[in-house]
Amino acid sequence: MPCPRTCTLPTPAQAHCSVCHHTFGGITGFDAHRRDGECLNPATLGFVQRDGVWRTPMSDDARQRFASLHTLAEG
Ligand SMILES: [Zn+2]
Ligand SMILES: [Zn+2]
Repeated sequence: MPCPRTCTLPTPAQAHCSVCHHTFGGITGFDAHRRDGECLNPATLGFVQRDGVWRTPMSDDARQRFASLHTLAEG
């Protein structure tokens, strides 16, 4: 199925679904939205869309690491 103009073109690291036409931040996210040959709504999986790309939310661990990096950069 060809993509409508509204589709977000994926970078080589990202993955675009030719069925539901969502773009994912990586193959892991793409795999997560496929269940039994069907597409799940990424929003119901807890994904967050940013710039037209669905990303898995940061884990608490990653968020803490990011926060400390941010603090260092500012300080
Ligand atoms: Zn899909
Ligand atoms: Zn598409």
